[in-house]
Amino acid sequence: MIAENINQIKQEVGHNVKLVVVSKFRSIEEIKEAYVAGQRIFAENKVQPLLERYEALPKDIEWHLIGHLQTNKVKYITPFIHTIQSVDSMKLLQEINKHALKENRIVNCLLQIYIALEDTKFGLSKAECMAILDSPLLKELSNIKITGLMGMATFTANQDQVEKEFKSLKSIFDEIKGNYHLPYFETISMGMSNDYLLAIACGSNLIRIGTMVFQ
Ligand SMILES: *Cc1c(COP(=O)(O)O)cnc(C)c1O
Repeated sequence: MIAENINQIKQEVGHNVKLVVVSKFRSIEEIKEAYVAGQRIFAENKVQPLLERYEALPKDIEWHLIGHLQTNKVKYITPFIHTIQSVDSMKLLQEINKHALKENRIVNCLLQIYIALEDTKFGLSKAECMAILDSPLLKELSNIKITGLMGMATFTANQDQVEKEFKSLKSIFDEIKGNYHLPYFETISMGMSNDYLLAIACGSNLIRIGTMVFQ
């Protein structure tokens, strides 16, 4: 039961952790069931399904994008997107800002940090992240807010490895929080169905859950 799953996770994680339900691959009916259960924050990892679901579902949903975003697709989502969790370049930030400005909107952005051992293509190193935050260009981006960091741990049963990766994201977050004047920098997005409790123990305050909600 989708409603029971959501309520159980919410009770388990408490009020200080935001639950983002990952709706990728699910039917509109399934997503509606989560909506009726009170869930209002959903995430997709690709632009096209995100657009279809945005059209089909109630407009008070807060939509997040959690997958790689190409600059040429930014314009399709800026009219409604709440948070882009997967920002991985200055160029992308500038593009988001440009289109958000046209729409007269503010778009929240998380910088995606590469913390896993896996050889995935996306995400910033700590140095690349710091370079973005140090850039004088950032101040000119009036229609984006950098609201935190996102990371994905290695897909492994080795809990020590996953814990190490989550802790590394938390420590980068703390370093940024302590050294930069970023008034909206509050979100640490880490933890999925199989590792969210460990992620929260390591400092996560936003979890992205798909499988466990819809099973
Ligand atoms: C699919 C996905 C999730 C959700 O994963 P589950 O294991 O189904 O909970 C979370 N984050 C990202 C970036 C994803 O692509």
